[in-house]
Amino acid sequence: MQTIQSNLEHIHQQIKESERKFGRATDSVQLLAVSKTKPNHAIVDACRAGQRQFGENYVQEGVEKVQYFQEHHSDFDIEWHFIGPIQSNKTRPISENFDWVHSIDRAKVAQRLNDQRPEGRRPLQVLIQVNTSGEASKSGIPVQQALELASSIEALPNLSLRGLMSIPAAVASYEEQLQAFNQLKDLFEAIKAQYPQVDTLSMGMSGDMEAAIEAGSTMVRIGTAIFGARAYSSKQ
Ligand SMILES: *Cc1c(COP(=O)(O)O)cnc(C)c1O
Repeated sequence: MQTIQSNLEHIHQQIKESERKFGRATDSVQLLAVSKTKPNHAIVDACRAGQRQFGENYVQEGVEKVQYFQEHHSDFDIEWHFIGPIQSNKTRPISENFDWVHSIDRAKVAQRLNDQRPEGRRPLQVLIQVNTSGEASKSGIPVQQALELASSIEALPNLSLRGLMSIPAAVASYEEQLQAFNQLKDLFEAIKAQYPQVDTLSMGMSGDMEAAIEAGSTMVRIGTAIFGARAYSSKQ
């Protein structure tokens, strides 16, 4: 039987192989374990196998998990990433509970996350979600508007801009996957040139991880290949 531990080992192996194959530095690609819809005991198993960074998509479910682990397993010292769509009336629990947010796609949401960050906490580490697929994907800001949003975020003291995230529309071939990821990589380089603290390019999921690493991903977001298929839809 496949366990969470053996799945994690397998993915780390694949990441290493891709780093080597594409001339990427060793350990330049981090693994974010996407635990949405999965129970706390699955997260405990992953933590016991050494995983520390977890991604959640739904506000209520995510906050319950963050608080459960703070109360019962603070020794794991988990870093929590919010990666789902953000409604502007749901920013407070995100800003109060998470360490990272990958899915900022408008200035209003950035402003609210900034204003609602509890005093004394490290700034929220944030990524701009970019839509590289045009009509085919509704989430994320168009490529042309990303630099403007980056400069709005830079002005907010309780947010720290770390990079970009994208979820390209599912495409059939490796070449098409690579094309979408390369577009994001170009934008990442442009933003990095302006903001030296920018270091994170969040792209690649269970089905397109290799192409993402070839194109320069620094953080892959993997759910299914670690925890198995989800019982309910990932769409909100
Ligand atoms: C669900 C989800 C993932 C993980 O997808 P898998 O195909 O299960 O690896 C990654 N990123 C985001 C934003 C997601 O919603």
